[in-house]
Amino acid sequence: MWSQSEPIYRIATQSTAKAWRNRLARYRLVGTHCASCGMDHFPGRHVCPKCHKRDLEPKEFPRTGTVVCTAVDHSPLMGHGEEVPKPLAVIKLSEDGPFVITDIVDCDVEQLKEGLEVELVFRKWRRETNGNYMYGYKFRPISTRG
Ligand SMILES: [Zn+2]
Repeated sequence: MWSQSEPIYRIATQSTAKAWRNRLARYRLVGTHCASCGMDHFPGRHVCPKCHKRDLEPKEFPRTGTVVCTAVDHSPLMGHGEEVPKPLAVIKLSEDGPFVITDIVDCDVEQLKEGLEVELVFRKWRRETNGNYMYGYKFRPISTRG
């Protein structure tokens, strides 16, 4: 898929500083929890969209969830992988966690449907402007474990 000799297109990369700042969200699903109204946010926020308070604390969310909405990308953006069709989904994280839009991997398009139980896996996302590969969460069906 990707190789050392592949050119690094500036339009397809994320700045290294931004990649560093959002590493906890990408690696461990860390978002924010509002101490005032109890709302969870992913990705994390600086101001709560519900009560507009700023007393937010970091919160790590569960690594499993349920598919609530599906989509299939037949022409992914440059730098986001060349394998098509590419299944995407909105998932509801377990324990009443927030919704997350994510790539679904190790899954046929026919297998992807609402109600599918999924778990977090750590995969390559795309490249940073310095050429490093950026890694982060994707989800796969729990039944394909092993
Ligand atoms: Zn709030």
